[in-house]
Amino acid sequence: MRRYREFREKLLAWFRAEARNLPWRQTSNPYHVWVSEVILQQTRVDQGLPYYERFIARFPDVQSLASAPLEEVLKTWEGLGYYSRARNLHRAARLVVEAHQGVFPRTAAELALLPGIGPYSAAAIASIAFGEPVPAIDGNVRRVIARLFNYDQPINTRQAEAFFRETAKSLLSPSHPGDFNQAMMELGARICVPRKPSCHLCPVAAGCLARIRGTADTLPRKNARPESPHHHVVVAVIEENGAYLVGRRPEKGLLGGLWEFPGGKVQPGESLENALVRECREELEIEARPETLLATIDHAYTHFRVTLYFYRARRIAGTPVPRAHDALLWADRDTLRNLPMPKANLKFLRMLQPPETSLFS
Ligand code: SF4
Repeated sequence: MRRYREFREKLLAWFRAEARNLPWRQTSNPYHVWVSEVILQQTRVDQGLPYYERFIARFPDVQSLASAPLEEVLKTWEGLGYYSRARNLHRAARLVVEAHQGVFPRTAAELALLPGIGPYSAAAIASIAFGEPVPAIDGNVRRVIARLFNYDQPINTRQAEAFFRETAKSLLSPSHPGDFNQAMMELGARICVPRKPSCHLCPVAAGCLARIRGTADTLPRKNARPESPHHHVVVAVIEENGAYLVGRRPEKGLLGGLWEFPGGKVQPGESLENALVRECREELEIEARPETLLATIDHAYTHFRVTLYFYRARRIAGTPVPRAHDALLWADRDTLRNLPMPKANLKFLRMLQPPETSLFS
């Protein structure tokens, strides 16, 4: 359709003139594109950029990533959150090396079979690195399309997903699918932003129905989601002879492979102190006494929120046994600093760790 051809030309011209100069845009190396796409799955470009550079400097190709120990990959990822991404990168690198002789699959359908690569990332990698004409559809692209076509139905439904898939396919540039996909994402990230889109700067404003009808700010529409649950968690910080007791979370599951101070959820009606005593019994088979509340830290995950209460605790009986972790360790401050840990534990360490003192002094 002529309309669509004009749309592509305007969008691509804008992208080539205005796109941010990002390192993964200077390459079609599938490994680099893959790492950048995985980092950007849940992280903004400005936050993800230093992590991308650090990751590529430490693991410059799929072979070096595949041969690295998981713990080192998690350490390099530390602070970026959503650690399943790092575990999946590592697993997928091993698969590429072992099952594909180190050569990346070239199509979105094959890429989507690798761990951690969903339909969006598969399409982005296949179109950018290999020129496959498949649309990459993420939240930014859904928002842009909803506004361009004034789609006023809730977008978190199957029907809406079919609409976005078909529309994105029709809009896609068959000759420059990689640039086109990146241009749509860039438009959504910088111009057609969720609140107060900058329609006056938009290269495709002339054909945008939401702009014409004045509905851009109200789109896209979503069905209301129930509020995410909020958990309260007690954490035992047990120090003996300058070493702190930490456990490694089982590899399968939330934050798998990361080290943490032991603890767990407070049960309804339970006091924080009683919860800590119970958790130490259940998780470590020790008797412990909570002493001082050292810090209270709030943290949000995708589907729930937590408030963590870090208590200094004293072991009064028993030898720790890993009932909830796959390993326990008495770690001195240097070791602690080098272990991959979840964000909330890191926040706690930063709060309480002036350079040359004990955690508690
Ligand atoms: Fe988005 Fe406005 Fe451009 Fe339409 S004109 S695509 S609402 S920025």
